[in-house]
Amino acid sequence: MPSSSSTRPAGQRARDRVDPLRDDGAGGKPLAQLKGIGPSLSGKLEKLGLRLLRDLWFHLPLRYEDRTSVVAIGDLQAGQKAQVEGRVDAVERGFRYRPQLRVAISDDSGATLVLRFIHFRAAQASQFQVGSWLRCFGDARAGGIGFEMIHPSYQRIGDAERGRTMDCLTPLYPLTDGVGQALMTRLMKQALAVLPPDDALELLPPDALESLSLPSLGNALRLVHAPPANVDVAALQSGVHPAQRRLAFEELLSHQLSLRRQRMSIRQHRGPALQPDGRLSSALASSLPFALTAAQQRVLADIRSDLVATEPMLRLVQGDVGSGKTVVAALAALAAIESGKQVAVLAPTELLAEQHATSFDGWLKPLGVNVCRLSGRIKGKARERALASLAGEADLIIGTHALFQDSVVFRDLALVVIDEQHRFGVHQRLALRDKGLQGETRPHQLVMTATPIPRTLAMTAYADLDVSVIDELPPGRTPVQTVVVNAAKRERVIERIRKACGEGRQAYWVCTLIEESEEIVAEAAEATHAALSTQMPELNVGIVHGRMKAADKQQVMQAFKDGELDLLVATTVIEVGVDVPNASLMLIENAERLGLSQLHQLRGRVGRGGVASTCVLLYQPPLSLNARSRLEVMRESNDGFVIAERDLELRGAGELLGTRQTGEAGFRIADLGRDSDLLIDVQRVAEALLTDTPQGVEALIARWVGAAERFAEA
Ligand code: ADP
Ligand code: MG
Repeated sequence: MPSSSSTRPAGQRARDRVDPLRDDGAGGKPLAQLKGIGPSLSGKLEKLGLRLLRDLWFHLPLRYEDRTSVVAIGDLQAGQKAQVEGRVDAVERGFRYRPQLRVAISDDSGATLVLRFIHFRAAQASQFQVGSWLRCFGDARAGGIGFEMIHPSYQRIGDAERGRTMDCLTPLYPLTDGVGQALMTRLMKQALAVLPPDDALELLPPDALESLSLPSLGNALRLVHAPPANVDVAALQSGVHPAQRRLAFEELLSHQLSLRRQRMSIRQHRGPALQPDGRLSSALASSLPFALTAAQQRVLADIRSDLVATEPMLRLVQGDVGSGKTVVAALAALAAIESGKQVAVLAPTELLAEQHATSFDGWLKPLGVNVCRLSGRIKGKARERALASLAGEADLIIGTHALFQDSVVFRDLALVVIDEQHRFGVHQRLALRDKGLQGETRPHQLVMTATPIPRTLAMTAYADLDVSVIDELPPGRTPVQTVVVNAAKRERVIERIRKACGEGRQAYWVCTLIEESEEIVAEAAEATHAALSTQMPELNVGIVHGRMKAADKQQVMQAFKDGELDLLVATTVIEVGVDVPNASLMLIENAERLGLSQLHQLRGRVGRGGVASTCVLLYQPPLSLNARSRLEVMRESNDGFVIAERDLELRGAGELLGTRQTGEAGFRIADLGRDSDLLIDVQRVAEALLTDTPQGVEALIARWVGAAERFAEA
C-alpha cells in the first residue's frame, strides 16, 4: 500500500480540479467558443463528456471503416464489411403497418444489392431517386434475392465523384443525437490541429514508457484519429496497434489509480470496530449439519480480522458456485450482531433475496436474531413495520438494491453484505457505500461473487477491494457431467427427463433468448411449458420467469424445493444462487449463445446434492467455430476459474464482469481481455505514481475517468 499522503481531500469534483501539470494552450478552450457551435450543440457535446477542445483528443474512435476501395456488388461476400457504389434502380416503401424502406442498387457488375432500412423518416425515403448514384458502407448479408445491407451508411454522389476513395481508414466515433460522424470528424480536425508538443501532454514517467517501448502520447493520438495510408490496418482494426496499446495503457492506469484512490479515501474514515464475543457464531457453527471447509474457515478468519479493525472493511469474497459463500456471510453477520449492531444483506434479484431470507431465517431465528425483509415490492403497512423495525429492533435486513433507494434509516448499520456482485456495476457498488454513513463512520463491506475472475483482472477491476477466495467445494459433491446436444434431438432429451424424474429426481429446463425483451422470453417460456406439459402428462411441470409477481415466483420455487414439481421451466432468473439439492438434471436451450460464465452459473444449480448430475447444453446448428470451442470448454471443465480464463479469451472482459448488462462497459479504448498483458505494468506504474507524483495522478484521472470520479467523494 502506498502512503496515503497522496490522497486528496474528499468532495472535489474531478472536472473542477485544476490540472497542475498541464499547459496545453488552446486545448483548454471551451468547445462552445468554436465557430458554429451554439448552446444547443454544446449541450449535446457535453453529453459525450466533451466540454473543452482537449476533451476531443481523448474522444477515441470506436472502430474504423475501410473506405479505401470500392467493391463491385457482384464480388461481395457474405459477412463482408464493404464500400460499394451503385445506381438506384427501385425504391419501395413497405405497407402501412410494417413500414420498411428498401432501395435496390446495381453497378457495372450487373448484380443487385438491396439497402434495407427498418427505421427511417419520410424525408429520408424521398432522398433516393431512381437513376441517382449512392456510395454505401455496410455489412453484406444474404437477403431475399442476392445480398442486402441493413442500415448502411450512405451518401449520394455525383457522376464525377464515382470511384473516389479515401486514402486511409475512416475513424468512427461515439456519437449522440444531433452529433453525427461528419460533424465529429470536423471538430476532431480542429482539435488535433492544436495538439501541443509531447512534453505538455505527457503525464507518465519517462522510464515507464521506455520499458514498454510504446509511442509518445502525441504520436499515439495522431495515429488513432488520423491513421496514415501505410498503417498496419489489421493491427488497427483489431485494436493491437502500438498507438492503441499506448492509449489503453494510460486508460487502464487511470482507472486503476481512480479505484486505488477511492479505496484510500474510504480508508480515511473510521469503521465500526466490532467486539464480537463469539456467542452466536459458535452456536450457529455447532447447529450446522456440516463442518466448514478449510477454505471457508480461512476466508472467515480474513473477514473477522477486518471487522475488529478501526478501518472499514472492503473485502471481496470470490467462490465458485456452490462453494458455500452464504454461510460465511451469515457467520460474519453474527460478529456484527453480537456487537449489538445491524447488518444489511443485499441480493441482485427478488428471487435470491427471498431465498436468502429463507436461509437466514432458518439459521439465525433459532438464535434469537431479528431478521427482517424489505424490498420495493413490500408495500403499505408491512413496509411501515419493516421500516420501523430497521430503526429499532431489527438485527439483520435482507433486500434488493431497492433497499437503499428509499429513505431507509438504520439504527446502527455496521456491515453491508452484497451478494453476487457481478450483477451490480462498480458504480452501484460505490454508491452503496454512502448509505451507511454515520458521521465519520462507514460500515464494513463484504462483497461476494461467484464469477471467479483471473487474478490480474481482479487486481484491475477490484483494485478498491481486498480479495479472499473460497477455492474448495464442500466434500461429497459429484462433478456435473455436461453433454452437448443438437436441439433437433429433443426427443432424446425428453427421455432423459422422464428417466430422471421417474427416479424421483428433479430437472430444470432453461429457456434463453438473447437480446429480446423480458416479455418475449417469458412468452417463449410459457410456450415451452405448455409443450412439455403435454408431452409429459405424468409430470408436474412448473414455470418461473421474470414477468411473474415476486410472490408467485416464490411460491413456484418453494413448490419445486418441496418436491411438488418434477420439472421447472425457467428463464435465466434462476441463474444466481437458487439452491435445490434434489435437482440433478438441467437443460439449457440455445446454449451456444450464452457466455461461459453464465452457463457455469446456470449449471451450478445442479450437482448440489449427493447424486450424479447432468447438464445438457442444447444448441441450434450450425455452430460457429467460436461457439463450438466454448461449448467444448463447458464439457471439459467444472472449474469456474478455468472457465473464466477461457471466457476472457473468447468473449472479453465486459461479458465476464457483467458490465455489459449494467451498461457500464467503461473503457474508451482498453479491453481487459485483449490488453491483459499490460496489467502487470499498470500495477507497477500505478504504485510509482501514487508515491512520487500525486499531481500526475489527479491529472490522469481527470483526463480518462472524468465524470465517473464523482463516486470518489467518499
Ligand atoms: P454459493 O457459494 O454458490 O452461494 P451456497 O452458499 O448457496 O453456495 O451453498 C451451497 C450449498 O452448500 C448450500 O446448501 C449450503 O448449505 C451448503 N454448504 C455450505 N457450506 C458447506 C460445507 N462446508 N459442507 C457442506 N455443505 C455446505
Ligand atoms: Mg450464493
